[in-house]
Amino acid sequence: MRRQRTSRGPAIAAVLCVAAAIGRAGGASASDTAPIQVGTARAVPGQTVRGTLAVGEAADGTPVALPISIVSGTKAGPVVWVQAGAHGDEYGGPRALQEVVRGLDPGAMSGTVIAALIANPPAFRGLQRVNPNLDDLADMGDAFPGRERFATERIAAAVTAQVKRWAGFFVDLHTGGDRFRQHPFVFYTVTGKVPAGRYDAFARGFGVPTLWRDESRVFPNDAVTNFAAAGIPAFLVEVGGGQPLDPADLRLQANAVRRFLETAGVISGGAAPLPSYSVVTGYRIVTNARGGFFEALVRPGDRVAEGAPLGRIFDPWGEVVETMTAPAGSRIVLGVSTYPAAPTGGWLFEVGTGLSESPATTDRP
Ligand SMILES: [Zn+2]
Repeated sequence: MRRQRTSRGPAIAAVLCVAAAIGRAGGASASDTAPIQVGTARAVPGQTVRGTLAVGEAADGTPVALPISIVSGTKAGPVVWVQAGAHGDEYGGPRALQEVVRGLDPGAMSGTVIAALIANPPAFRGLQRVNPNLDDLADMGDAFPGRERFATERIAAAVTAQVKRWAGFFVDLHTGGDRFRQHPFVFYTVTGKVPAGRYDAFARGFGVPTLWRDESRVFPNDAVTNFAAAGIPAFLVEVGGGQPLDPADLRLQANAVRRFLETAGVISGGAAPLPSYSVVTGYRIVTNARGGFFEALVRPGDRVAEGAPLGRIFDPWGEVVETMTAPAGSRIVLGVSTYPAAPTGGWLFEVGTGLSESPATTDRP
């Protein structure tokens, strides 16, 4: 990807390179000599500033830009990039992130939080998961590291440039969208670039009892996988979804981010790990062969075994024409469709595989 050269002198550029290198090890510190700037948002120690990161234009020339907040502590510390709304119909993430940012006290912080409050503005404008432009329709979870081609790829490239430049940690808030509900979990991809024990300890630091510890790079073009491969500890936090938004989901997701900021040392509080965690290593998507009305027989978080009935499809006369069952390896329901009808091939269930119960360790990040 091409990068714009800035007017910064060589000395400043060298400082930035050092900061970026430390950041990749997960311990970037805010530098007095190189104020963080993301688009028009320019960090000021002890303050919360707002701005936008331009990523393109609508057909009428209206700017397409990510709303940005930068909350800067008065003391040096890690830089944590937190974003939400990478999928435009996942409204819980932005609401949780708003709550986190508005509740932070920069005067009591060590380090910086960069919040990208709507990471995929074209999809959000369309009230859809992806950018509805027929030239695009690309899933942002499949667009990283991005490139200067289609709109979603360009946004991914812009985010990649900013995260690699400034951030020591990356957190991506997701939900099941407007017609799917997720069991809360933290997803991360162990790539070898971030020491595994340290990575596990940070994942536990969210205080979310279910972890999806991916070792197979199941989403090779997702932001989390790409940043982990670059040495930046990166996490996807899935909570809830469906309509209407559940205030308990927003609280849970916001609390997870705050606990992570404690774990990273940005805010005080000294979050302790939970007594134990359920760790899955893979997942299966279950779809329907027959179209019709959909009824779920399980809920997100339910434990299941192979062959367990998950849900049913009814034809227009009310006859059951299909019962979906849990595929081999199924252990826990990670997500369930909340939409009451589905044509063949509906994204109806996600089940986690490879489940183990992991007691808390004494590892501290
Ligand atoms: Zn999502």
